[in-house]
Amino acid sequence: MWLIMTFYNLSLHPQILKAVTEAGYLEPTSIQLEAIPKIMEGFDIRASAQTGTGKTAAFLLPTLNHLVTKNPKQGKGPRVLILVPTRELAMQITTQALKYSKYLNQIKTVCISGGVSYQGQMRDISRPYDILIATPGRLIEYIEKRKIDFSRLEILILDEADRMLDMGFVEPVEQIVAAIPSSRQTLLFSATMQGSVIKLSEKLLNKPIDINVNAKSISKNENITQKLHYVDDLNHKNRLLDHILSNNGDDCIDCAIVFTATKRHADQLANELHDKNHSVAALHGDMNQRQRTRTISQLRNGKIRVLVATDVAARGIDVQLITHVINFDLPNTVEDYVHRIGRTDRAGAKGIALSFAAGRDTPLVKKIEKFTGQQIDVSEIEGLEPRAKSQSRPKQRAASPRNSVNRQFGGRPKSQQQQKRNGRRG
Ligand code: AMP
Repeated sequence: MWLIMTFYNLSLHPQILKAVTEAGYLEPTSIQLEAIPKIMEGFDIRASAQTGTGKTAAFLLPTLNHLVTKNPKQGKGPRVLILVPTRELAMQITTQALKYSKYLNQIKTVCISGGVSYQGQMRDISRPYDILIATPGRLIEYIEKRKIDFSRLEILILDEADRMLDMGFVEPVEQIVAAIPSSRQTLLFSATMQGSVIKLSEKLLNKPIDINVNAKSISKNENITQKLHYVDDLNHKNRLLDHILSNNGDDCIDCAIVFTATKRHADQLANELHDKNHSVAALHGDMNQRQRTRTISQLRNGKIRVLVATDVAARGIDVQLITHVINFDLPNTVEDYVHRIGRTDRAGAKGIALSFAAGRDTPLVKKIEKFTGQQIDVSEIEGLEPRAKSQSRPKQRAASPRNSVNRQFGGRPKSQQQQKRNGRRG
C-alpha cells in the first residue's frame, strides 16, 4: 500500500501547519520530504537543490519548528542566520519566512542587505529578533561595528552557496562564520555541488547528510517547453525578439524575462524595446534597491510585461505570472540555464523557455541537453529564418515544412506527426 505523505506526517507545529495549509501546499516536495525530518533531528545538511524545488520551505519550516519548540538562550541576537548572495533572494526568503511564521507571533524576522538605508536596519537589529536573513557585505559592516550579538545563534543556513562563491563571497562568508558560535547546526543549499562549494561545505559542516534533488528531476519538468532559435547576428536577434514579443502565435506572452549577458546591454535592450512600444523595464545589479523593488512590483502587478535582466538580478525573483523566459544571450553555464528557465516554472505554472543561439553556441547547447537529459526543439519563424543554418544543414531544411519548423537540436529529424503538432504551436 502506498503511504501518501502530507505535511501532517512531518510533525510540524500546528501553527506552522496552519500557515502551510493557507499557502495552498497540498503535499511536501521531494526536497522537503528528505530535508525536513533530518533538519528536525538536528543533522547538518548539504543539499543540492535548485530554485523551484521548494528548497526555501525545506529549510524554513523545520527552522521555525525548532524556534518554537526549543527554548532560546539569554540574549537578543538572532537564533538563526540565513546567508544569501543577493538582495532579491534575501527579500524573497523574508517574504516566505513571514508567510510561514504568520501564526507564530513570538518569532521575529529581520532582513539586512546592501542598497537599503542603514536607519531601518539599525532599528531592527537593536530590538530582540530570532531570524536574520542577510547578504554578506552588509552583514560584515554590522559585525565590524559590533552591532550584532551572535551569542545565542543555533542555526546557520547558506542558500545558493554556489552563487555566493561565484560572486566572490568566500572570504566574507569565512569572516562571518568566524564570528558565530561553532556549536551550531549548519545547512548548506546549492544549485550545484562541485569544487569550491564542496570545499566550503567541508569547512563549515559537521558530518552532513547529503541530499540531492538532481537537476534532471527538476528540469525534466514537463511544465516547461524549451525551444531554440538559431540566429545569425545581433540584428537578427533583435528582429526575432520584437516579433516574438509582438506576436507569438498560440504561445501568448503574459509576462516575460529576457536575459542578456551584461548590465549595459540589459539597459540598452530595454530602451530599444521601449522605443518599439513594448511595456518593458531593465533589472540589473547597478540599480539601487528602490529601483529594483519598484521594477519587480511593476512586473507583479502587470504594469510592465517584459523584464530585461541579468542572471544575478533575476535570482530570487518569484513572480508566479512569468509565462516566458527568453535567453537573448545564452548563459555561461548549464546551471544558469536551468536556473533561468526555472523562473517560468514556479509552483507548477506552465512556461516556455526560448533561447537564441548562434552556430558557435552549439557545444554549450549540447552540454545543456546532456545536463538536463532533454533535447531542445529547434524553432523557426517564417520570414526570420537564420541564413547560417540553411548552409550548415541543407538536408533537414529541405525536408521540413516551411512555416515554423521544429525539430530536435543536433539534427535528429522528428516524425511528421510531431512536426505537424509543433508547426501549430510555433
Ligand atoms: P523555492 O524553490 O523555495 O524557490 O520555491 C518555489 C515556489 O514553490 C515558491 O513559490 C513556494 O511558495 C512554492 N512551494 C514551496 N513548497 C511548496 C509545496 N510543498 N507545494 C507547492 N508549492 C510550494
